[in-house]
This record gives sequence, C-alpha cells and structure tokens, in this order.
Amino acid sequence: MTIASVNPATGETLATFTPHGDAEIEARLAAAAAAAAGWRRTPVAERTALVARAAELLDERREALARLATLEMGKTLAAARAEVEKCAWVCRHYAAEAAGMLATEEVATDARRSFVRFDPLGVVLAVMPWNFPYWQVFRFAAPALAAGNAALLKHASNVPQCALAIEAIWRDAGAPAGLFGALLVGGARVAPLLADPRIAAATLTGSEPAGASVARAAGESLKKVVLELGGSDPFLVLPSADLDRAVATAVTARVLNNGQSCIAAKRFLVHRDVYEPFTARFVAAMGALRMGDPLAPETDLGPLATPAIRAELQAQVERSVAAGAHLLLGGSVPAGPGCFYPPTVLAEVPLDAPAAREELFGPVAPLFRVDSLDEAIALANATDFGLGAAAFTTDPAEQERLAAELDAGSVFCNGLVKSDPRLPFGGIKRSGFGRELAAFGLREFVNAKTVWIG
Ligand code: NAP
Repeated sequence: MTIASVNPATGETLATFTPHGDAEIEARLAAAAAAAAGWRRTPVAERTALVARAAELLDERREALARLATLEMGKTLAAARAEVEKCAWVCRHYAAEAAGMLATEEVATDARRSFVRFDPLGVVLAVMPWNFPYWQVFRFAAPALAAGNAALLKHASNVPQCALAIEAIWRDAGAPAGLFGALLVGGARVAPLLADPRIAAATLTGSEPAGASVARAAGESLKKVVLELGGSDPFLVLPSADLDRAVATAVTARVLNNGQSCIAAKRFLVHRDVYEPFTARFVAAMGALRMGDPLAPETDLGPLATPAIRAELQAQVERSVAAGAHLLLGGSVPAGPGCFYPPTVLAEVPLDAPAAREELFGPVAPLFRVDSLDEAIALANATDFGLGAAAFTTDPAEQERLAAELDAGSVFCNGLVKSDPRLPFGGIKRSGFGRELAAFGLREFVNAKTVWIG
C-alpha cells in the first residue's frame, strides 16, 4: 500500500509517505478519545470560536491550499480557490449558527420540566474522497467539532498532503491536541478502527463499494454511519426552458471539477421540442472548452485524478458506443503525459448502456431525447442512484411536479445542483443515507437526549 502525491497533469511523483503503523494509529486514536472527553465539556462558545478561527486560517492560506489541491488531484486553480473559500464559508456558518442548533429544546409534558439536550457522540471517523479534498472534510468537521465531537480523518490515499494541511489548520486554530487527527492509512484499516469502542460513529463520502464496506463494518459494531455515495444526476430540459441558461448550466454541471463531482449532471434528458437546438449548442459549448494545465488561468478542464479513473471512463465510453450510442464529440484519450480526457458527448444512448446506467466520473455527457414530462420523470428516476436532479422549465406547475416526483436528495429548478451550508445535502437509494450541512448535518452526530424531571 503506498500513500503518494502524484501530479495527474504530469505524472510526476510529488511526495510519498509511509503509512501509519499500529503504534501511530493507536496513539492518534487514544489522543482523539482523550480530546473528545474534554471537548464535550467545553462551552459551545469556545467550540464555535475554534471553528471561526479555522475559517480565518483558510482565508489566510487560500493560495497555498488551492495550489496544493491542484497539484495533487488536478482541479483547476480557480476551482481550488473557490473550494477553499467555500470551506471558510461552512466554518463561518456553523460558528454563527451551531449554538442555536444545539440549544436545549423545552417540551411540555407531565414532567415538572422535560427537555431535549444535544450531546456529542465522541470520536467520529471520517473516510473521505479526493475529489473535493478540502470541502468534503470541512463540511463534516465544522458541524461535528462545533457539536463537541472529535474527528479522525482517513483521507483518500492520493491526497495525503491535503490531509496534512487540514490537520494543520485545526491544530493552528487552537484545537486541543488530538481533537482532529489525520490517519495516513489505506481502506483496509477502516473496519478494525470501526470495531474499536473509542470510535463512536463514522461518515464516508465515496464510492458504493467503499460505502457498503464501511456500512458492513459499522453494522457489525452497531455504530451510526452517514454515507454520501455516487450519483447519476439527471438534467432535464423542457420546452419552456431558457435555452441559453440551460446550455451554459449543462456544460458547467458536467465539467465542474473536471467532471468528477458526485452531483455533476450525468444524464441529459431533453424534450423533443428543444432537442435539436439544445444539442447543437451544447456540443459547440463543450467543444469550445480549453483542456490543459490546471494551474493556467485560461484552462477550463484539467486532467482526471488518476490513470485508473481515466481508463474506467474510456472503457465506459467504448462499451456505450459498442452498445449503439453515437459519439458527437470527443471520446478518445489524447496523446501525451497526464490523465487528460476530452469533453465528450454521446447521443442515442441505449438505456442498458453503461452511459445510461453507471456513474460517469469525468467530462462525458450522454443525451436522451424524451417525448413528454411523464417520460422525462420516469427516465430521470430509472437509476439506482438518487443524489441530485436539475430541471430547466419556467412552468410553475411543472416545477411543482418535478419537486414532488423526482427521486433525489435535492431538486434544483433552473440552476446548478450545488451544496450550500444552509441547506441539507445527501442522497437516497444507492447514493447513501443521512444528511450533511444545515441543522440536519449537525444533528447526525449528536445524541438527542431526553431529560425528564418530576
Ligand atoms: P472511493 O474509492 O470510494 O474512496 C473514498 C474513500 O474511501 C477513500 O478514503 C478510500 O481510501 C476509502 N475506501 C475505499 N475503499 C474502502 C473500503 N473498502 N473500506 C474503507 N474505506 C475505503 O471513492 P473515490 O474514487 O475517492 O471518490 C469518488 C466517489 O465518491 C464517486 O462515486 C463520487 O460520486 C463519490 N462522491 C460522493 C459525494 C457525495 O457527497 N455523495 C461527494 C464526492 C464524491 P483509499 O483512497 O485509501 O482507497
């Protein structure tokens, strides 16, 4: 098992790390457990002050953090800066709101006084992916620490430097020793950690196999787990849509983060009345994207994060074409170094082709022509996933129906599906369970404790 930073734009190895062994893991776990015991007794105002200080450090370190993410996983520098800014936002949000979310709730019963307290659970193990190497961690950590928990981070093995940079932020913000620790370990270390009584709960953001494995291990030891898994979000374009806006948003929704986002639009369902103009404009806009060095300001699309991800995407495209899909743009691996994959558009995609059924983690857009709103909703829901859904329609009645009938954790009308600290985020079906962000996210890792005083 290696833990290495490899620049996906060049193939150059930037740094390698020796994975933590048994003694190091034990030391970090013991430190986290000790920190959790003290932190739960620390006043909420002190806990939120730490989260606010983390926001300041994120602002101060924005350029260095952004560059590091670009070098380690290939997102454009502009996207990396925006990610660091969003992390500061989520910290500020919980710094301001957590005390209210954690306030005791009085309930009138037969007791002299009865109320609900929100107590922390203890040490939460966070298993995180590389695609938003800061955001995924901070959106969990800001509410979890504000609520009085400690955290152990097992980050993806290709972003160890980001993991250590996050650990440094919490340490430098003044967190008690051990309150937030990074473990440089592979996935095989997760199940034994979950069996340890000092770990109270877990959260995983990542693929379905990783989610199933962590859910199994958490189930064995009867521990709470939140899972944020993959998606195959539909993007519906209906006859009343503002096509300029729909096309521009469709391109962003597919290629944001070099196409490697759980809530990227991954299936484009276009009504026959607007199919031809939408397709022509979408293909032109995808074809105009500039692929190249993610550090260069003019670049729209950087490399995929690893050679394995590119190989899998290319195989999905090839199998879809073999099944009958038409290639309208892209579709072949460019020569030269780096894990680049071009903007690709597929049309006439058979419903059993990989591009219709599997998650496409890269800048590949399958188009589907639909004849009616009913067909659009049925096809949108014909997936094992249920993370987000976007629909472009200016008809309020259609918006109401879509909000009610699309099977997803979120529905965005006339806009990009995105996470926002003020709104809950998560999925249904094979996209996972539990919620992050807003009060829902903070309350995943608390004990809603009933107190009855006669
Ligand atoms: P991944 O391979 O599942 O890895 C995610 C994390 O899980 C990594 O830390 C990985 O460690 C660990 N892991 C892998 N197998 C494991 C196992 N059997 N037991 C315990 N831990 C294990 O996913 P990825 O390729 O990094 O991320 C892409 C996936 O994440 C996509 O499916 C995407 O849609 C999903 N995602 C979901 C959300 C959401 O909010 N729903 C957000 C972002 C991404 P190693 O790196 O050491 O293998």
